[in-house]
Amino acid sequence: MRNSEISLALSGGPQTIEEEDIELFRWPIITEEDEKAVLEVLRDRSRMSKIDITQKFEREYADWVGVGFGLGYCNGTAALLGAFWACGVGAGDEIICPSMTYWASAAPALTLGATVNFADINPDTLCIDPEDIEHRIGPKTKAVVVVHYSGYPCDMDRIQSIAQKHRLKIIEDVSHAHGSLYKGRPCGSLGDIAAMSMMSGKSFAIGEAGMLLTDNETLYERAIAFSHYERTGGPSRNTNSEKSARGELARFAGIPIGAHKHRMNQLCSALGRVQLRYYPERIAEIQRAMNRFWNLLEDVPGIKAHRPPAGSESTMGGCYNPLGLYRSEELGGLPCAKFCEAVRAEGFKSCFPGANRPLHVHPVFHEADIFRQGKPTALAFGQRDVRQGEGALENSENIEEIAFRIPWFKHDRPAEIERYAAAFRKVAENAHKLI
Ligand SMILES: *Cc1c(COP(=O)(O)O)cnc(C)c1O
Repeated sequence: MRNSEISLALSGGPQTIEEEDIELFRWPIITEEDEKAVLEVLRDRSRMSKIDITQKFEREYADWVGVGFGLGYCNGTAALLGAFWACGVGAGDEIICPSMTYWASAAPALTLGATVNFADINPDTLCIDPEDIEHRIGPKTKAVVVVHYSGYPCDMDRIQSIAQKHRLKIIEDVSHAHGSLYKGRPCGSLGDIAAMSMMSGKSFAIGEAGMLLTDNETLYERAIAFSHYERTGGPSRNTNSEKSARGELARFAGIPIGAHKHRMNQLCSALGRVQLRYYPERIAEIQRAMNRFWNLLEDVPGIKAHRPPAGSESTMGGCYNPLGLYRSEELGGLPCAKFCEAVRAEGFKSCFPGANRPLHVHPVFHEADIFRQGKPTALAFGQRDVRQGEGALENSENIEEIAFRIPWFKHDRPAEIERYAAAFRKVAENAHKLI
């Protein structure tokens, strides 16, 4: 039977996917080896709060990414705050950050008395639009935050040349992109400093944890002094480096400059060491599965893969929370929400439009008075007013029309993946019946 003669499940036709197999999606993969590593720390009791295992994990993770230093955190938000402070973001400063991301990519700026100038995303990459950065730079702009959205590496060549020209730091938020490559080089090694979440929902998932990475010893030492007080002034890897901030900061040993305590708990770092050993092969399988899915849909109107062009040597890492790109004009104007409803009826129950909510319209960045100065923190330290309302960032605000959730396959099982692809194809090819 041709697809056009089949009726959609939404109109009472047969479902394409009768039952979803949760094994296809369950994550992270936990084996006896993970359990043993965690139990060992648990049974030891006091080691849960020490740093010996975390330091091994930091070294292994930094080596995997190919950078000089790794620093473990209690979560990704803390790692981002540490990275901001290390880069010199302070009261009265500005950072540039895409509006389409999780709040923790931007909100630490407010904690430090700075403000956020939000940039729009490119509608094909869903990452910060390099065209929307330069005009936002002012005398107080310190850094640009890049988020490799859903694992898609940002256009780093162009961002690097802008940052170099204006002497801005690049802070990579790698929370979606553990293992992603940009033109063959690992995300997390492409800016001045990188920070990432490793909480349970992420692609590299070890509970509640975060990691900071950098090749810059001064930034590393500053991050330590901010919130890893017991390590301030301690030996770092390049003990001979003359540029070390250690000397300057050593006198603060014992009390964190930031008054934060950001240490990773070792139940997580022990789990992280085991997860890292298997992560490359596991994400290789995820990438095979996701590419299989999209290859089956290449000729379908209205939906497009969110993945780097073939032959670019860029990859999507663990394909965190993957999205498809929706182009309603190819489907007679069918709204994305209706398309998703029809796919859910076909049996893929997690098909919803959109992704994160755009941040630039959120009241926290407009009104919140964190320091109780009688004015919004976004303005309280002499910052320019760079707040933007509804209508300012078209693609970010339009996310529910241009992107939708697709299955995040953890295993490359052709027969099952083919059924999911068939569900999307069926809805797209019958879209006219829904208008
Ligand atoms: C999850 C996430 C974070 C925050 O990490 P936590 O570990 O939850 O604190 C930061 N940035 C992005 C892009 C994220 O997705």
